[in-house]
Amino acid sequence: MGEPFAEGTRLLQTGIRSGEDGQSLPPAWLAGAPYEKIAPPRNERTTVAPMTAQIIDGKALAAQLRQDIKQRVEQRVAAGKRAPGLAVILVGENPASQVYVGSKRRGCEECGILSIAHDLPADTGEERLLSLIDELNDDPTVDGILVQLPLPAHINEEAVIERIHPDKDVDGFHPYNIGRLTIQMPTLQPCTPRGVMTMLESTGVELAGLDAVIVGASNIVGRPMALELLLARCTVTVCHSRTKNIEEKVRGADLVVVGVGRPEMVKGEWIKPGAIVVDVGINRLESGRLVGDVEFDSAREKASWITPVPGGVGPMTVATLLQNTADAADRHDPV
Ligand code: NAP
Repeated sequence: MGEPFAEGTRLLQTGIRSGEDGQSLPPAWLAGAPYEKIAPPRNERTTVAPMTAQIIDGKALAAQLRQDIKQRVEQRVAAGKRAPGLAVILVGENPASQVYVGSKRRGCEECGILSIAHDLPADTGEERLLSLIDELNDDPTVDGILVQLPLPAHINEEAVIERIHPDKDVDGFHPYNIGRLTIQMPTLQPCTPRGVMTMLESTGVELAGLDAVIVGASNIVGRPMALELLLARCTVTVCHSRTKNIEEKVRGADLVVVGVGRPEMVKGEWIKPGAIVVDVGINRLESGRLVGDVEFDSAREKASWITPVPGGVGPMTVATLLQNTADAADRHDPV
């Protein structure tokens, strides 16, 4: 197995590198150290046969990212600045949305971010929601505004997303922020793809030049994921429900990111030996078990790195929202 999947970087199961003395080192993306300073020179890397993939442990990486954000917030406050503020708006009582909003609010609490809750009844009119967004846009204590999706059918989601000031759009869905990412000038980036990039960075694998295949082309997962991977100099193919022969495309991929919402749609035998597999899908089976969009056990036998479900991309999405909020606060009110 040749580059970029060569071994020799002393990586732990969590994707966090271990130091010479066996102590764990912070990954380069947290410590700010260029990866080259930690990894051995390319010509010292050894070549190994395909084996059971290492897990990219999203839960551990997310915990570490939240810890890093907490320290950033403490430094802001110690410097006499206010804590970042995140307004989370929930319309209606969708149980899944309540769970997501709950974990975002708990994340704020853990990191010292001020969480501002707006829980509105399901029959809230679009004008009422837009005027609340206007108020929050004008509130200098609010750095981020998140409207939990999906919204009730009588509210136009696009109008709501566009009403949020791009500087406070911590979900990264505003056309301005998507446009910035498109022209290689990212500002606030969509949380799930940014979280996936952090996970990929934690492996230390050089992404430039990889053939990346994304399965799923939604506005929140597949499309911004393609922009992120293009920015990282991958050659990107995006598949959707009308794509012909997805299996063949996946078989040729060095890096596969799947976000479709179909349990175990991507079979393990499709995975190229040594490929990196990122599973964004979250599906609850009738048995109650949570599975991703990739057949995990068989894919793990072929891949070099793989994300689990649960405990993979999900926790990183929430932590990245907090990271975006801290970034927004640093822009609004620099330390
Ligand atoms: P979505 O809006 O329904 O989009 C699904 C995408 O998959 C669409 O582009 C669709 O194609 C494509 N697709 C559907 N069936 C397909 C098939 N048979 N073959 C190929 N492509 C197919 O879903 P989403 O919001 O992106 O979510 C996708 C999954 O990711 C869900 O399981 C969701 O729960 C999960 N998710 C997880 C996180 C996280 O933090 N872990 C965040 C967001 C979403 P068309 O464009 O042609 O319709």
